[in-house]
Amino acid sequence: MRRSGIRYDADREVVVTAGAIEAVTAALLALCNPGDEVLTLDPCYDAYEAAASLAGARLVAVPLATEGDRFCLDEAALRAAVTPRTRLLLNSPHNPTGKAFTAAELAAVARACLDHELTAVTDEVYEHLVYDGAGHHSLASVPGMRERTLVVSSAGKTFNVTGWKVGWACGPDRLVEAVLSAKQFLTFASGTPFQLAVARMLGDEEAWMAWTAELRSTLQRHRDLLRTGLEQAGLRTYRGEGGYFLQADIRGASYTDGTRFCRDLPARAGVAAIPCSAFRHSPHNPHTDRLVRFSFCKPADVVREAALRLAGTWQV
Ligand SMILES: *Cc1c(COP(=O)(O)O)cnc(C)c1O
Repeated sequence: MRRSGIRYDADREVVVTAGAIEAVTAALLALCNPGDEVLTLDPCYDAYEAAASLAGARLVAVPLATEGDRFCLDEAALRAAVTPRTRLLLNSPHNPTGKAFTAAELAAVARACLDHELTAVTDEVYEHLVYDGAGHHSLASVPGMRERTLVVSSAGKTFNVTGWKVGWACGPDRLVEAVLSAKQFLTFASGTPFQLAVARMLGDEEAWMAWTAELRSTLQRHRDLLRTGLEQAGLRTYRGEGGYFLQADIRGASYTDGTRFCRDLPARAGVAAIPCSAFRHSPHNPHTDRLVRFSFCKPADVVREAALRLAGTWQV
């Protein structure tokens, strides 16, 4: 099996799970002892804290920095947070910010992993949804990282079947064996008929690459529609380099508290969003209060209508 230019042995280096989240959870259960630390970037996907706490580990979240309309890695902050008990959990493309880590940023993450001999788990469920022709980079493809990285992905986002819960983890056999030892007592097996359908799809690489290319260009158009609508409503947005989401700064609508904004939004505009603070773990994150997450994984007419309503509510 080949991913991001890396080969994995289907028998020893791949495990199929009940969605990407079971893979992440089983990995943390297997790789962490009570009191260990799971280092991730903030804001972060909400299931990570639950998974870390099931393992008795502590989630340590380092805020992403910003530069213009991009989120970026603060390498010094990441390195400063590493301790002898650290495991790394990296999500790229990133939920909830829409950031896709660049090759240079991944090289910096890899340096931290190699210098401190860290094991990494990467959640790459949006790997095929990177926009503007940028292409996906996997931490595992940085020299030296394949042997210490467990790469997690899933059919959910790749094939637009989020309810199927067919995921997988690929990595060196000792890490995959560790995942299996925990997974065995979580679900043992699941979704077998769906696995057959996913296997059939994956078997015809040309067909599924074309299919995901189509999905990617559709979602990129939806992102552009939503981003234009938000900007027309006076809300500054971040790029949305990959995945399903855009972050908007609500100060343009004369709000400062994202939770308040999201409570008012359905009645004011007939649109719903989620405050970025719902994904916060670090108490020191300077961005989360003023940002809210909008999703564009909806039919085009829904995205277009939402954009019109937002622009109609806050005319600039
Ligand atoms: C949607 C999502 C998942 C869930 O994947 P499943 O395969 O449904 O478990 C995992 N990670 C991130 C970052 C997601 O956005």
